[in-house]
Amino acid sequence: MKTIYFDNNATTKVAEEVLEEMKPLFCRFYGNPSSMHTFGGHIGRQIGRAREKIAALIGCDAAEVIFTSGGTESDNTAVKGVLSAAYNRRKIITTRVEHPAVLTVCRELENQGYTVVELPVDRQGRLDLDQLESQIDDDTALVTIMYANNETGNVFPIETIAEMVTSRGVVFHTDAVQVVGKIKLNLAESNIDLLSISGHKLHGPKGVGVLYVRKGTRLSPFMLGGHQESGRRAGTENVPGIVGLGKACELAGKNLEEENNKVRLLRDKLEDGILKNCPGSSLNGDKNNRLPNTTNISFEYIEGEAILLLLDRYGICASSGSACTSGSLEPSHVLRAMGVPFTTAHGSIRFSLSRYNSEQEIDYTIEKMPKIVNQLRELSPFVAE
Ligand code: PLP
Repeated sequence: MKTIYFDNNATTKVAEEVLEEMKPLFCRFYGNPSSMHTFGGHIGRQIGRAREKIAALIGCDAAEVIFTSGGTESDNTAVKGVLSAAYNRRKIITTRVEHPAVLTVCRELENQGYTVVELPVDRQGRLDLDQLESQIDDDTALVTIMYANNETGNVFPIETIAEMVTSRGVVFHTDAVQVVGKIKLNLAESNIDLLSISGHKLHGPKGVGVLYVRKGTRLSPFMLGGHQESGRRAGTENVPGIVGLGKACELAGKNLEEENNKVRLLRDKLEDGILKNCPGSSLNGDKNNRLPNTTNISFEYIEGEAILLLLDRYGICASSGSACTSGSLEPSHVLRAMGVPFTTAHGSIRFSLSRYNSEQEIDYTIEKMPKIVNQLRELSPFVAE
């Protein structure tokens, strides 16, 4: 059975071109870029070229790109690094819908005595910018707000927020892990100070990421040791990963708009087909401000996990809005923050597409979904007679 992959916000297929670019770096060009010999120097130049490709995609200077082990490390570095360089400021503003790579760090810092404000969102998952502005004060060291949400695809008005925050002399970080390669960025013309990227979300390899740090931003290093990355991130570089990420960024930049328009049409067809053919289904999120590839749909009276299992039988991969924590199913903190009722949040499914999906896959899924939903509803004790 063919696999139909609609879980691209979890991870993406490595592009064949990316893999080809990485291959020689394992057994042929395996030198350490910090070595003095020519063999190592060659590797250093490959890292330099990858840095330039990434900088070209996000519109910044290559010197502002720091390689990390992924989105989680980039987020941790941004939050902890700004706080520890901020001396006397002890307040962080974030949102209730951030990825745990930000939220957990903020909560840990709160336990250590920092003040953390988690801004609420409305039923569509939108922020109140007046509320954000009223929270910024002389104690605020950092505002960290994600560019787009991994569960709903909601895109926040990040450029407006960055301007608001930095005009008050506060550092602004955004987790753009779900955005790079989907929305055109030009950081040279933006007020964003720090931005997180993860390789495996844009058809690059796992275990590599980037933290963009605007020149002049005060940031203490998170990883201490050698002098790699100009002393901003110690540790021997993941050379194949870095080179692969460079290639993935080059590919993403080539046809960014065309590819994403194609993905948006497929996503809209899938979403419309499911909402039309499955009674008791509804969309979660801000329909008009979303990533082109994501849709999050709730199905009344049934559990997301049961839907996933039946989808899996047809070879379709998606994900649900619940996470299995210590044996019990916790509904997504994002949907709960949006005020989605407990049972509706439990019955939610996220489909996240990529440029590798086809119209046939969409048609097949639209055909199967009503069967799955009806089959589960027949078993559900909650459906009214
Ligand atoms: N931030 C967001 C919004 C994500 O979706 C993810 C991964 O799902 C991460 C951070 C973590 O990235 P990584 O898996 O590269 O550590």
